[in-house]
Amino acid sequence: QTTEITGSSTRRWVRINTLLVSEQDVIRTLCEGDGFREIPFTEKDSEITEKTFWRDPHIPSLCAFEPGVKLQSSRLFLEGKLILQDKASCFPAFILNPPAVSNTHVIDATAAPGNKTTHLSALMKGKGRITAFERDKKRFHTLEMMVKKAGATNVHAKNQDFLSVDPFDPDYANVTHILLDPSCSGSGIVNRLDYLVNPENDANESEETQDRLDKLAAFQLKILLHAMKFPALQRLVYSTCSIHEKENEQVVTNALKNQQALPQFSVANKSSVVPSWHRRGLHSNELGGWSNDPLKDFVQLKTFTETESFIRCLPGDGMNGFFVACIERRGPSLVSSK
Ligand code: SAM
Repeated sequence: QTTEITGSSTRRWVRINTLLVSEQDVIRTLCEGDGFREIPFTEKDSEITEKTFWRDPHIPSLCAFEPGVKLQSSRLFLEGKLILQDKASCFPAFILNPPAVSNTHVIDATAAPGNKTTHLSALMKGKGRITAFERDKKRFHTLEMMVKKAGATNVHAKNQDFLSVDPFDPDYANVTHILLDPSCSGSGIVNRLDYLVNPENDANESEETQDRLDKLAAFQLKILLHAMKFPALQRLVYSTCSIHEKENEQVVTNALKNQQALPQFSVANKSSVVPSWHRRGLHSNELGGWSNDPLKDFVQLKTFTETESFIRCLPGDGMNGFFVACIERRGPSLVSSK
């Protein structure tokens, strides 16, 4: 079990919680009340000082501060108006992009501690409904607390294993969007202790590592295939804070290959997956050890013509290592959505 840690070693990412406050009000409070100064977007960490910040060019309402900035004791933070959330972790909800209308029903399948759930709620402007599942009791309580603090009133949190949810239950008949951010190896997390002690650990091909990754990938594939059964599903975002293709590109490719009968889902077009973000999915020739069979490799290559549609982040980008894929239903949904 890994916990996604917010923040990274080179920047402190802060999301303005637009459920409780407007972006303009926060910028005004920071600049007029707290002595900060907004500077234009820069990739150069040296230009961010203790009292400066910039607004992110990819994710709306996200700001970058110097890593040591003390915001946890600020009023804005204590009131739930600022959420400390790594930039990489903001991509999934933004890419899912559920409509902010009253009849939207979204599932956050693996939700605690709730960073992405509350982000979804903000993007939906508190409209529609988000059902957020979390199977672990302790983490479920954290989720409940975070949802309350953020004022995410359209979230219904459930302490339930998502795999036990019947996709054909009439309660979920109108679920059109699913965010799936399952447990993973956490190999992308910058400040994970073993990563700092031994950064090459994750590239280590030890049997133990491979065995653990195989088990995680099997679980991730199972839960992704389960999510794809929801009859009205139109768009799904799958993400991990892992840098391993086994948990990322391979899981998504296997799920798409695994569709029974007619293939219904395919990878979303790059144009709806933050096209301006530079680091994209791995191509099959960058993937190690898949197969030595030329025919299989050819199939993989074809499957991976759309890797440009995937997003990757690396610690060198000033955030945690991360992977995001978006898939969409191409054919008609199995039920007519009302
Ligand atoms: N999306 C969260 C966020 O941004 O704050 C982080 C999710 S964390 C990577 C994965 C979570 O999924 C863990 O809290 C874990 O307990 C939960 N989980 C794992 N398997 C699950 C399942 N089958 N059903 C529901 N929750 C599950």
